[in-house]
Amino acid sequence: MIPVTSYQDRPVAVFGLARSGIAAARALAAGGAAVTAWDDNPKSRDIAAAAGVALVPSAELDWSRQAALVLSPGVPLTHPVPHPVVASALAAGLPIIGDIDLFAQAEPTLPRHSVAVITGTNGKSTTTALLAHLVEACGRASVACGNIGTPILDLEPLPSGGVYVIEMSSYQIDLTFNLRPEVAILLNTSPDHLDRHGGMVNYAAIKRRIFDWQAPGGAAIIGVDDDYGREAADRLRASGRAVTPVTVMGRSDTGVSVEDAVFFDAAISPQPVLSLDGIESLRGRHNWQNAAAAYAAARALGFSTAAIEAGLRSFPGLAHRLEYVGTANGVRFVNDSKATNADATGHALAAFGRVHWIAGGKAKDGGIDSLKPLFGHVERAYLIGEAQDAFAESLDDAGVDNERCGTMEQAVASAARHAGVGEVVLLSPACASFDQYPNFEVRGDHFRALVAQLAREPSA
Ligand code: ADP
Repeated sequence: MIPVTSYQDRPVAVFGLARSGIAAARALAAGGAAVTAWDDNPKSRDIAAAAGVALVPSAELDWSRQAALVLSPGVPLTHPVPHPVVASALAAGLPIIGDIDLFAQAEPTLPRHSVAVITGTNGKSTTTALLAHLVEACGRASVACGNIGTPILDLEPLPSGGVYVIEMSSYQIDLTFNLRPEVAILLNTSPDHLDRHGGMVNYAAIKRRIFDWQAPGGAAIIGVDDDYGREAADRLRASGRAVTPVTVMGRSDTGVSVEDAVFFDAAISPQPVLSLDGIESLRGRHNWQNAAAAYAAARALGFSTAAIEAGLRSFPGLAHRLEYVGTANGVRFVNDSKATNADATGHALAAFGRVHWIAGGKAKDGGIDSLKPLFGHVERAYLIGEAQDAFAESLDDAGVDNERCGTMEQAVASAARHAGVGEVVLLSPACASFDQYPNFEVRGDHFRALVAQLAREPSA
């Protein structure tokens, strides 16, 4: 645990008791604060109470006596409407902060270290895990944290020289003020969660805020393949800051650029610096963007291109994101259960030549019509869940061979029968999982287990 001593002997309210809220309450209490916590959900309260957290209903708190409100990022701060606890804290003039801000307040008590933060609409977890992996591969201690893995205040402090790589959602950025990251990455910005941010302009402005936290010499790494990234880079340059732009749309004479999986780094040489060719865990143009940003960050932390390339090659990838899960009868199986919308599945289809595609679940608006330009990558589709009829219609219209399989068991069995040696079966559902599974992880685990069974009984 990382104790937070900045509120010693002062009352602090914690609201929202998922894992990070419980960690914050415990870290504050360990640092001597008088913590009272609450959650609207009785189950969360029970778990927190069992972890030793003192509970007081937020409606009964004397807000004028609190020093701060520590809010879970899941609780509405501004939109659609502020949660009543937020209104109470604002009326009392309290700072409203999150667990990452508490970490920032505790940093002076930690061994010497660096901080890298990563935000963006897509690719945050992959880039965070990859950068932490690169740092370790280059010989320094690191941890991927924030919106991923263990709550940051539950971590054991890194030894001297360590690098905290912090994934941050826009909600977490909204609750952070004291962090001073040496490296900040904005991967990309596209419409998402707009109901919680009151529109695209505000959402993009929140994402850009990570650069305002930095000292003037901090590394600002920005994906410039969308308008919002370009605007963020222009604004920073206009304020006199140096920017490392990242593009995967071909070679550029500034920053880090990627052309057909080959990396160019204008700060080093006009020649290619490394290639992602043959790295399975970083397949697809979207992963080039993640890898290029992580590369730029690792360079900013002082590592050599050779050490970084070795690190890229040993990256195991993240579960459920284009995850290779095994081979049976010469057929390769790939789990992309995290692809819960058509956009994410588009990246997966584009990453392969032709695939046997397992899709379906609880459909999102628009179904798979936006994927039509990629239907040429589909050898045959195996459809499951509520969306199977609608998806079959879209595929029939486009003349793509498909089968309504209903369940994952049927889909895997049928795909295994139809696919030939050297071919790929890809689970990339383009749907939420909730019609058949509690979440996308359980869906991906089920797929992985079915593949393992096939691999054990090869000719089944
Ligand atoms: P996040 O943490 O931002 O949700 P992940 O790394 O978990 O992102 O990736 C989630 C999905 O988003 C992936 O399965 C992939 O389909 C897509 N994705 C990953 N990286 C990118 C990127 N750089 N640009 C666009 N889409 C991406």
